Formats: sequence, structure tokens, C-alpha cells
Amino acid sequence: MSDAVPAGTVDVVVIGGGAAGLNGALMLARSRRSVVVVDSGTPRNAPAEAMHGFLVLDGMSPLEILERGREQVRQYGGRVVTGEVVEAAPAAPVAGDLRFTVALADGRTITARRVLVATGLRDVLPDVPGLAEHWGRGVVHCPYCHGWEVRDEALGVLATGPASVHHALLFRQLTDDLVYFTRGIALDAEARERLAARGIRVVDTPVEEVVAGDGGVAGLRLADGSFVARSVLAVVTRMQARAEGLDGLRLPVEDLPDGLGRRFVSGMAGTTEVPGVWVAGNATDLAAQVGASAAAGALAGAHINAQLVTADTDAALLRAAA
Ligand SMILES: Cc1cc2nc3c(=O)[nH]c(=O)nc-3n(C[C@H](O)[C@H](O)[C@H](O)COP(=O)(O)OP(=O)(O)OC[C@H]3O[C@@H](n4cnc5c(N)ncnc54)[C@H](O)[C@@H]3O)c2cc1C
Repeated sequence: MSDAVPAGTVDVVVIGGGAAGLNGALMLARSRRSVVVVDSGTPRNAPAEAMHGFLVLDGMSPLEILERGREQVRQYGGRVVTGEVVEAAPAAPVAGDLRFTVALADGRTITARRVLVATGLRDVLPDVPGLAEHWGRGVVHCPYCHGWEVRDEALGVLATGPASVHHALLFRQLTDDLVYFTRGIALDAEARERLAARGIRVVDTPVEEVVAGDGGVAGLRLADGSFVARSVLAVVTRMQARAEGLDGLRLPVEDLPDGLGRRFVSGMAGTTEVPGVWVAGNATDLAAQVGASAAAGALAGAHINAQLVTADTDAALLRAAA
């Protein structure tokens, strides 16, 4: 395995080597495109023991999936390098064809004809002391990812916004022992009725901290000094597309309603308003799970190849006419 970046211009640089980036690179490498994936090694689901809800791979460790993905990209000649992109920007076109330069934190640079951004997203957790250390295990967000694993447990939903009510109802499908902590976030009479109808207890007393115990979550300490035992907590996170180092690409972003997050705007097959730049996975689709992210990456990879085929043919025509 080599971490060397190619000296000349490559067809495509993929920024981010999670499910989206690797599947995009796989399509490109199999199309005999020179492709380099730059990955800083912090995929979103790294804290989770296993990945669930994706056929065939269900139950496999997220890191093993990525390791196998990297091997498959390399098998077709694609390169996967460890590094952090700190700058990416368009460069002067060459013979009418687009160029981009991408700089890594360690000083290496890559020149590419096209860019696929697959940097994923960052989950911003509510500021509750003791919560973050349990993220991905005792503190979860996704009923489809780990809901089955926490079924029938004593579960607490920590409200973070209007979406938390529906979130609670989703987790109610998995356990009948559920407490909803409002944390000062307004809950109208209709929502209270809906929660009550499903046997969900509502606690309005402010939450002071998450109390750990036995290697996991023991419960919540409230502002009045009382303790509510809970083995699992669920939160709707604020989902922020990871944009560090990408300012130079000037990709349009969009805020979701109710403070749910921010994504890169994309169109068909991950195209963006910036010619030559595609985006796939959680960076543009905040709700995408591993399967959807991989599929989006594959589609973007195929679309990039199709566009390069057209560019290559146009260039050949010009040469033939010269
Ligand atoms: C705790 C948890 C558990 C989950 N469990 C499941 C599950 O069971 N099933 C499921 O389907 N989904 C699950 N998900 C969702 C899953 O993590 C995402 O759907 C998936 O990771 C999205 O893939 P991606 O390729 O878009 O982003 P990521 O997997 O996050 O990959 C993005 C990659 O880009 C890299 N990167 C970012 N910025 C840069 C940069 N500037 N330079 C270089 N590299 C960069 C990162 O290091 C990272 O490796 C879970 C999420 C969480 C938080």
C-alpha cells in the first residue's frame, strides 16, 4: 500500500473515503480512470461497533467495511491515500479542460480534472455534560442503525428541537419504556397528547448531566437532584456537512429547517453549480445511510466518467481537425 500521490494530473480526486467516496472511486477505477481518494480517516459511524440495515454487510464493523472498500478500489488501480485536504480550488484550464488543485495538510498536492466531494457530515450533539463520551453506543440517533440492538431497553429521548417528537415515536416502535426529556424545548398540548397516547412519559425538569455506570449510560441527573435511570439515550443531532478545506470550491450550501443541519446543494447524480465538482453521500444528503451514500457515490462516479468520456471525445475531434 502506497501513500504516494501521483505527480501528474489525475482524472479525478475524491475528497473523503467513506462509503460514498470509495464507491465513487470504485466506479471510476473500473472505468480505467486515474483516481485518487484522499481520506482523513474519521468516518461518521466510527464509534459504532457494527453497521446495520444494509443488505449482506449487516452486522459488519464500519471500519472493516471501509478497509475492504479501500482494497477493492486499489485492486482496479485506484489510489487511496491517508491525508487531510486543507485547500481545494479550480486552477487554470488546460486545452479547454478543467483543472483543480488540492492541497493536503502535509504539503502534498494533487492536480485533477474533476473533483468528487464525499466528506460526510459532523453530528453536533446537544451540550449536555457527560453525553458526548457515549456517542454511538449508549447515546444513539438512528432507529434503523441501532434500534434493534437497544430494543426493550429503558430509553430516554433528549429533545433538541421539533423533530424530537417524531424521533421519540420512532424509538417507541422499539421499546415501550421510553421517557421524553423536554430540556426547555416547547412541547405543545397536541404533541403531549400524542406522546401520552403511546405511553411515553414526559419530563420537563431540566437535565443536568448524563451519569455513567458499568461502562455505559446509567441515567440522567435532573436539576432538582433526582435521578432517572436510563440505559440508552437518543438525540436528534444537528448535521453539518464537513466543509473544512473546501472553501475554494465555492460550493453552494443550504440550511435545513428547524436547525436540523447544513448540506452542500447538489442536483442529478451529485452535480453541483460548480463545473467539474460533484458531491455525494452525507455531505449533500444528510439522511443517507451507508447504502444510500454508497449508491450516490457510485452514481456520481459513473456520471463523472460519462462527462470525461465526452470531454475526451471533444478533445480528440479538435485534434483530428487541427
Ligand atoms: C454512530 C453512528 C452509527 C451509524 N450506524 C449506521 C448503520 O448502522 N447503518 C447505516 O447505514 N448507517 C449508519 N450510520 C450513518 C453512516 O455513518 C453514514 O450514512 C455514512 O457514514 C455516510 O457515508 P459518507 O461516505 O457520506 O461519509 P463518511 O462515512 O463520514 O466518510 C467521510 C470521510 O471523509 C473524510 N473527510 C472529511 N473531510 C475531509 C477532508 N477535508 N480531507 C480528507 N478527508 C476528509 C472523513 O475522514 C471520512 O472518512 C451511522 C452514523 C452514526 C453517527
